[in-house]
Order: sequence, then C-alpha cells, then structure tokens
Amino acid sequence: MTSRLLPAIVQEVLDNLRKDYEQRSCIEELLLSLNSVFGSTLTEHALELIDDGSVFLILSHQRSIFQIVGSRGDIYTIMETANFCTCNFFKHQVLKDKALCCKHFLAAKVALILGSFKTKNETPEGITSIMISAYGNQES
Ligand SMILES: [Zn+2]
Repeated sequence: MTSRLLPAIVQEVLDNLRKDYEQRSCIEELLLSLNSVFGSTLTEHALELIDDGSVFLILSHQRSIFQIVGSRGDIYTIMETANFCTCNFFKHQVLKDKALCCKHFLAAKVALILGSFKTKNETPEGITSIMISAYGNQES
C-alpha cells in the first residue's frame, strides 16, 4: 500500500464505523471492529485516553480541532479531517507506513463516534495560535 492510500483508508474505515454505530449503537461491535483494524494495543491506548477525559474538542466559529493530553501531560493537536498528529509515534511509525495511525488520532475519532469528549470554546485567533504552536515547534 502506498502512503497516500493509507490515510484515506483509515478515514473511510472510521467513517464506516461511525455510521454503523449511529445506526446500531452497539459498543461491543465497535470495539471488535477497532481491535481488528487497528490492533488491540492501539485501541486500548486510545480508549484509555478517552476514559481519562484527555480528549478535548476545541471549537471556534469556523474551525474545530482536537487536543489530546498525553500521559505525561504533553498536548497533541489533531485535525478532524487529516490523519496527522504531532507525536513521535506518528513521525517514526505512521509516516513510515509501520502503523495506520497513532493513539491520539484514534482517540479523537473514537471519542467523536462515542460523543465522549470535553469541549472548549476558542476564538479564531486562539485556534490559529494553537495550530502554529503545535506545528511550529517540531524538532526535525
Ligand atoms: Zn499522536
């Protein structure tokens, strides 16, 4: 599989899981599907982040982004529409096609399916500055 195809597949799989869950609201089915697509380790870690209340949807008038607070208090910024994260796992595994996505991205998408996240309102300028600081401070 090419690296350009993989992110599209991840989005499609998650979109389908969301539609299934909307229709049937079957959590067991959702968890089984997540385990079989993403593996039990990644799924468990993503669910832990949701359980810990670490998933925040940051809203402004035009845009929304997710912020995930990692286990060591680091904050990872996720765009809802792009499979991208600022963590090291993403850089070393996902970008090299060794994993489909990171636990932060999966946590954001699954939290959205389950409706299990906290929201914060932010000004458009505030969101822009969050994005600049998230993507501007990457070590190369
Ligand atoms: Zn990540």
